[in-house]
Amino acid sequence: MPAQKTCSYCGERLATDSEHVFPRNLYPASKSVSRVQRLTIPSCNECNKGWSDDEVHFRNVLALAGEPNEARRELWETTIRRSFEKSDGSRRVRDLIKILRPVEIDGNIRHKVYP
Ligand SMILES: [Zn+2]
Repeated sequence: MPAQKTCSYCGERLATDSEHVFPRNLYPASKSVSRVQRLTIPSCNECNKGWSDDEVHFRNVLALAGEPNEARRELWETTIRRSFEKSDGSRRVRDLIKILRPVEIDGNIRHKVYP
């Protein structure tokens, strides 16, 4: 019988979940076969749930600030857009707007991300 594992975050409760080291929601669906995102660590349910809201915000900030490539566009147009339509979607949009600052670049006003 395998030894019971302790949660990697709190180090106190028994692990009941496997938390992805690289959050699954950072990857577009077309990259779901990536081996990198399969790395997991043992966690308790309480800690795993506690991080989930932060992971969504982190994903949105990275997608907003990241290099405009195909993976980012797919993530933005599918997973992130759907998340804005959920009950907490307007809060998530406001959270992103709060970290945008107007800056002048080559005579044009652009917005930069200041998390
Ligand atoms: Zn824990």
